[in-house]
Amino acid sequence: MIARTSLDRWILDKHGLDTSNRQAVRAYQLDRIRDLLGFARENSRLYGLLYQGLELPSSLQEFSYYPFTSARDLAERETDFLCVHPSEIARIVTLQTTGTTRLPKRVYFTREDIELTLDFFYHGMQTLCGAGDRALILFPWRTPDSVGALLKTALEKLGLTVFCSEPDHAEEVFSKTPIDVVCGPASWVIQAADLNPSYSVGAVLTSSEVLYGDMRSRLMSRWGALVFDHYGMTETGLGGAVECQAHAGMHIRENDLLFEVIDADGRLLHSGSEGELVVTTLTRKGMPFIRYRTGDRGVITEEVCPCGSSIPRIQWIRRIPVSF
Ligand SMILES: [Zn+2]
Repeated sequence: MIARTSLDRWILDKHGLDTSNRQAVRAYQLDRIRDLLGFARENSRLYGLLYQGLELPSSLQEFSYYPFTSARDLAERETDFLCVHPSEIARIVTLQTTGTTRLPKRVYFTREDIELTLDFFYHGMQTLCGAGDRALILFPWRTPDSVGALLKTALEKLGLTVFCSEPDHAEEVFSKTPIDVVCGPASWVIQAADLNPSYSVGAVLTSSEVLYGDMRSRLMSRWGALVFDHYGMTETGLGGAVECQAHAGMHIRENDLLFEVIDADGRLLHSGSEGELVVTTLTRKGMPFIRYRTGDRGVITEEVCPCGSSIPRIQWIRRIPVSF
């Protein structure tokens, strides 16, 4: 029996939303979008201009005709995205891009925005670990509110004992204590597994990079670990979508994020079609992203998962480096 993704319970408890009622989920998302559009139009220079004269959408289909935003907009007009006074910003993440201009992207978060990510980590991680487990985090953790630091906070709140390390120093942790779960960028986790193949690990959470099939099987053969992949980017608030025990795609954090899939001409594609992922952050205040082209290609399925959940899943991702 495959346990259902922990996101179902989280969304029910937090919003009173039964995710199997897709009409109710869509109505919730549309409400958030209408609030967000009003807020963003009022408070951000970029959205104020972009949505001038546009009526609020009365359906998600209508919303799909709203203009896109892009990484280029973010690099060139970062503070125009801001919807709050800079004094309310708690963290700024700088991301390098490639290409001729090499303009960095900067993503701004308020304290409340960071709390939303912590909440997702706390509940999402319950799919693969629980109180009493010991976790090793290989994500960068030294900067406050970095992905590793937030994950550490969430896991400690869940009742785990948490160790943090660089992959080439993981042996120091493994030699001291059994480890139940390892979390980190896919290639870093593989590096740690290659360096420490004699240990066994129950579960692995990978993120930040595409997890190819051979990477998953390598982790399983080294450590015997079940591998749970996660998709997210800084713009989605680090967290985005996470696999359940069915390992058949990553369930979207759909109370905080709306993902759409578009074709090369920007038209909305149906469930199951491959295209570029476009994301809208439904609940962020500092720097919300609305119909933001991620540059990542993927497939989203709305079929009920073998775990029993109706939360849509991102089935695979091809990451295209941002270049302009
Ligand atoms: Zn599932």
